[in-house]
Amino acid sequence: MLRRMQKTSISHSKMILYLVICDLVIIWVIAFVLSSPKARIPLLPEIPSVKSEEQAPDPFSQRTIVDSWNFAEKYDFIPVDQRPNSVRVPILTYHHVAPLPSSKSSRPYFVSPEMFEKQMKHLDKKHYKSLTPAELYNLLLLGENPKQKSVMITFDDGNYDNFQYAYPILKKYDFTGVFYIVSDKIGIPISALQEMSQNGMVIESHSATHIDLIPVTDPATLSYEITTSKYKLQSVTGKGVTSFSYPGCGSNGSAVSTVATSGYLFAVSCGKSIDHSYYGRFSLSRMHVYSNFENFKKILSGIWEVTYDYE
Ligand SMILES: [Zn+2]
Repeated sequence: MLRRMQKTSISHSKMILYLVICDLVIIWVIAFVLSSPKARIPLLPEIPSVKSEEQAPDPFSQRTIVDSWNFAEKYDFIPVDQRPNSVRVPILTYHHVAPLPSSKSSRPYFVSPEMFEKQMKHLDKKHYKSLTPAELYNLLLLGENPKQKSVMITFDDGNYDNFQYAYPILKKYDFTGVFYIVSDKIGIPISALQEMSQNGMVIESHSATHIDLIPVTDPATLSYEITTSKYKLQSVTGKGVTSFSYPGCGSNGSAVSTVATSGYLFAVSCGKSIDHSYYGRFSLSRMHVYSNFENFKKILSGIWEVTYDYE
């Protein structure tokens, strides 16, 4: 009888030990699953996946902290009313960043390195984010203003001074520059373009030969200027070319449809507005930047003015 009781008590202890081990294993499995990255609750809502050549990233993945109050506050000039159903992002256009030339007719296309630095410093101070083309596309797709004041900083023509003067300043302030390059007339050495691309700059297409596309309807020419230039530049950087800048901001229906069917996310032109829509994405308005600080601050508020006062 005593032996039976001892046996029973031993088998009870074994059972309890077994249950404790099972519990510990279950707790460990739950803890492991919860600590895996997939199970963590995202801090920002997930953005729907985009069917495009490039996977659109989270628009707010850059260094800066999203500040939802920032967007509506403290402009230097009262912003113009936003167009209904639009996304507000000033898209800035630069050509040359270099000492101002003596020729008065070329000066509008130059911003001095000192003025460029002053403009970038201002964006940094005002907590602006510089968008990549993929990030801008993602916002257009969502149809929402960025939650943080944002700009896209673009450069046309691929002049060497973009590498010499603009690139170091962009790097200093941790901004992304979007460089529209003419694939058959690259003014920046290939190794420099690759360095820029590896350091966060984006290399995009400004056609193959900078031809005026307005009179062009020949499909072979359009394909060469728009599609071939894309693949040539992709082979330089090893990254996708996702947007197109019309040479001289000129386009016609054939050019727009060639861009739309060549795998580009959007195209940029010239304009006087900082408000955009997804449906207008193949001709987005960009504001021309002059070597003038007040004019620059007006652009950020959507105020368009031509200036002849170059600082
Ligand atoms: Zn150009």
